[in-house]
Amino acid sequence: MKKLQVDRDLCIGCCRCVDFAGQFFSIKDGLAYVEVQPEEDEADDADIAIDNCPTEAIEWID
Ligand code: SF4
Repeated sequence: MKKLQVDRDLCIGCCRCVDFAGQFFSIKDGLAYVEVQPEEDEADDADIAIDNCPTEAIEWID
């Protein structure tokens, strides 16, 4: 199953992912990370965060 991931080299800590999908993301040391992996039927909610990240730091990996 694919996994949600934040590239912390690209993240600028704007917190938009937390605003849009705080059920998956948290902030640590000023940068975002995935705290809870989305279930398969929650992928659309994660995609909203991906679409709203200003630096394209969030991605799905296989
Ligand atoms: S929206 Fe993108 S840049 Fe902003 S905190 Fe989340 S991962 Fe980082």
